[in-house]
Amino acid sequence: MYYKLPKIDYYRPKTLDEAIRLLREIDNSRVIAGGTDLLVDMKTSRVRVRALVDISSIPDLRGIEDLGRTIRIGAATRLQELIESNVVSQNLPLLKAAVESMGSWQIRNMATIGGNLCNASPAADTAPPLLAYDAEFVVIGSEGLRVIPSTKFFVGYRKTALNPCEILKEILVKKSEWSGWSYVKLGRRGGFTLSVVAVAVLAKVIDGVVYDVRIALNSVAPVPIRAYKAEEVVRGKRVSWSLIEEAANTVAGEVTPIDDVRSTSWYRREMSYQLAKDALAKALGVA
Ligand SMILES: Cc1cc2nc3c(=O)[nH]c(=O)nc-3n(C[C@H](O)[C@H](O)[C@H](O)COP(=O)(O)OP(=O)(O)OC[C@H]3O[C@@H](n4cnc5c(N)ncnc54)[C@H](O)[C@@H]3O)c2cc1C
Repeated sequence: MYYKLPKIDYYRPKTLDEAIRLLREIDNSRVIAGGTDLLVDMKTSRVRVRALVDISSIPDLRGIEDLGRTIRIGAATRLQELIESNVVSQNLPLLKAAVESMGSWQIRNMATIGGNLCNASPAADTAPPLLAYDAEFVVIGSEGLRVIPSTKFFVGYRKTALNPCEILKEILVKKSEWSGWSYVKLGRRGGFTLSVVAVAVLAKVIDGVVYDVRIALNSVAPVPIRAYKAEEVVRGKRVSWSLIEEAANTVAGEVTPIDDVRSTSWYRREMSYQLAKDALAKALGVA
């Protein structure tokens, strides 16, 4: 059921200091970036706020930079900017593939990477690649900056490790050479949809042996997850179909899916196995 938006105050700060001050001083205020999640939640009364602090005009929160050993992505960077960025194409192809699967061109032109992460939906598509890349999230509040590893950022269903009045400032990803990657997403239709299950894999295969591998999934637990046990099955082993089968089985054992409007728990577990098999085969170079 949709309602009209209630009357709210709207602020558009130009600096991070101003944004943090507004969040601290105004009770029940909330950050808005692209608004593609938040406005839906406000219209359905899932979220009620008194004031919105729009962070989209703060230069410190924008942009994608190659810093040499690290890639920096400002939290208010639009999803379409990620797709169009050469830095992302060349260094973070797994993230690019995940973002290409998200929403429509119109949604991606408004939606931000920080909004996707801070909304903390179990189905967030930018989460599995960033978990796989072992990204770090830089957050800022009145106490200053702190860095949260991506694996510690999602603390519960739609809950993050952000303190009240903290803002996600940027995402940092260390550069690394990966020989293969894959993002396999299953939705209820071919596109323009949230995932029923998605699997992200990064792999480093040298002379047929898996030197390193990262496996992450969304929509199979209260938060996006890394499949650490399955990674251990694969790491250090020679690539083979039986290894992929064993790892995919391990993934299916690690997930804790629920029934909801998009799928049943049973189907999600089955699809975790199938999609993990597909994603591993592609990333390990045997597809
Ligand atoms: C039609 C449609 C299709 C969609 N398809 C997909 C899809 O395929 N995959 C997918 O994952 N998502 C999808 N979404 C969800 C949504 O578009 C994304 O999650 C988007 O990235 C959210 O970004 P935003 O900037 O619009 O966030 P907002 O709506 O502005 O904010 C979302 C939440 O994050 C908080 N927030 C935002 N930025 C920050 C920050 N820097 N620091 C602290 N808190 C912050 C806000 O307070 C709010 O609670 C879809 C949405 C729609 C409407």
